[in-house]
Amino acid sequence: MKNEVLGVKAPKIECTDKKCPFHGDISVKNEIYRGKIVKKDINRTATIEWSRSVYVPKYERYELKRSRMRVHNPGCLNAKIGQQVLAAKTRPLSKMKHHVIIQLLGDVDQLSLVKEAAERLEKEKMHARKHKESAETKDYKNVHAVKQ
Ligand SMILES: [Zn+2]
Repeated sequence: MKNEVLGVKAPKIECTDKKCPFHGDISVKNEIYRGKIVKKDINRTATIEWSRSVYVPKYERYELKRSRMRVHNPGCLNAKIGQQVLAAKTRPLSKMKHHVIIQLLGDVDQLSLVKEAAERLEKEKMHARKHKESAETKDYKNVHAVKQ
């Protein structure tokens, strides 16, 4: 059994799950995803989901997209729907699963959500301003060209 995986301490409960990063025989790679559990299935499988914003140049705005991933939910962690978790890459565990949950981050933290939203908004504003400025200068030049 491993006491620590990627800086995450092993949970107090022990399990007999072979596909557990702490008590089983799989090793994880340093490629971590953060998401919310949206679905739980038998066979210790769960689906995590997170949102990301993608810039759409035509409309100079961001589109909110969702990504999903099937992950292994080890018996000792047993994440529940609605919980934020960290999942790390590992060897293929089944046809759809190549990642395993290594840490529970608890229920959705309102404060961090607000912080994230504020940061995203700030970024959007910066980006929009940049685009707007370049568009405006172009217009300005055109107006002058017509006048002359
Ligand atoms: Zn375990």
